[in-house]
Amino acid sequence: MIEVKDLRKQFGGFHAVDGASLSINEGSITGLIGPNGAGKTTLFNVIAGVLPPTSGQVTMGGEDITGLPPHELFEKGLLRTFQIAHEFSSMTVRENLMMVPGAQSGESLWNTWFHRGQIALEEAATLKKADEVLEFLTIDHLKNEKAGNLSGGQKKLLELGRTMMVDAKIVFLDEVGAGVNRTLLNTIGDAIIRLNKERGYTFVVIEHDMDFIARLCEPVICMAEGKVLAQGTLDEIKANEHVIEAYLGT
Ligand code: ADP
Repeated sequence: MIEVKDLRKQFGGFHAVDGASLSINEGSITGLIGPNGAGKTTLFNVIAGVLPPTSGQVTMGGEDITGLPPHELFEKGLLRTFQIAHEFSSMTVRENLMMVPGAQSGESLWNTWFHRGQIALEEAATLKKADEVLEFLTIDHLKNEKAGNLSGGQKKLLELGRTMMVDAKIVFLDEVGAGVNRTLLNTIGDAIIRLNKERGYTFVVIEHDMDFIARLCEPVICMAEGKVLAQGTLDEIKANEHVIEAYLGT
């Protein structure tokens, strides 16, 4: 579904992503692991159009999408989740989901989704969809809570919920488990598995929690120093000498 070929991203003279090549299979939940500073987030940001690459190529279904802006990728169904923007924290959980575009497209669709909220409160269909999403994610009891009052894990579920309000095909999730308790992490994992199985979402997940990776992800890709060290099952990755060396070296 996604092919990354010899991707590089430099910051000044520093090579954050240094010739990374990998493939993401349609229908997979691919895990991206690696020590801090490996270049995982930078790789995500380049694929998702948040940062321009220095060189290299990204294709989606054979089409060159290298360097396309986020709103164009968004239209193709490629989404990267972001923390709930500050200005949305005083709105309720349900309102956050309802900031969806009507008949807009292109850049304005992305802007509405990401930057400037327009609540389509009058649209019964949107309301129904938001409630379905809340139920699916088992956070319907929080629908009238202000987003800013949610715990870290609940916010992650809301971020996931926003991808369900549009037609996502592939979703990039950065550090789902950071600061999230085990129970909520399991709920997030359940939601990801169900979205994958029932709605056909492909996921790429950066995560440090190996139990979470073991439960959800196959294949797993390990990066270090801007390069892809190995790709395979978690067991294969754990047994890979380059991976062991990269982790021991930090
Ligand atoms: P990871 O997500 O694997 O922890 P990152 O992609 O966040 O790694 O970072 C990779 C390297 O690139 C780190 O050394 C980081 O300091 C550096 N880096 C990331 N973003 C920038 C930036 N905007 N400017 C300069 N260096 C950066």
